[in-house]
Parts: sequence; C-alpha cells; structure tokens
Amino acid sequence: MADTPMSPGDRKADLAALPPDPHRLPPKGSWFGPDAERHLLDRPKFCPMCAADVELGGGISTEYWAADLRVFMTWCGDCGWFGEITRFDIVTITEEEH
Ligand SMILES: [Zn+2]
Repeated sequence: MADTPMSPGDRKADLAALPPDPHRLPPKGSWFGPDAERHLLDRPKFCPMCAADVELGGGISTEYWAADLRVFMTWCGDCGWFGEITRFDIVTITEEEH
C-alpha cells in the first residue's frame, strides 16, 4: 500500500479533530521560544517524594530564575509535596582526602 500525500484540507480537518496541545510552544523566532523549549525538556517529570508523574497526577511545575539558577517550583497532585527543585549545569564541590 502506497503512502499518498494528504491534501491541505484533509490535514486541517485531521488537526481539528485532535485535542488542543497543552504544551504549545511560542512561534519559532520569538524571544521566549528557546526558554519555553528548555522548560519543557528540563522540568521535573516525577515527584521527588512519591515518584508519581507530576503531570498525570494534576500537579504543576513552574520555573523561575534567580540570577543564573533555574528553579522549578513543583507541586505533586498525588501526595501534595510542594517544593523547589533547582537544576545545575555544573557543580564544584570539595571532597575530603581518602
Ligand atoms: Zn508526590
């Protein structure tokens, strides 16, 4: 069976039948586009307390910035855990001599 290209009208009808995309990104080239993409890729997916899927349980993770820190204020809809998760690109720590 050969694949036939979809006409623009058929494609529009197909897309209209889909539910709205809850993670719609801003248009390409918009000033906030790269930040929105990084947020969707980096936000916590699972609760640090009960490991439930944050999104499926009705929770939310909102990102804010403090200087160069990216902080994800997260609430778990399953267990009610509410706190901040900070993502680091690099950490320098000291370690005792062995
Ligand atoms: Zn939880």
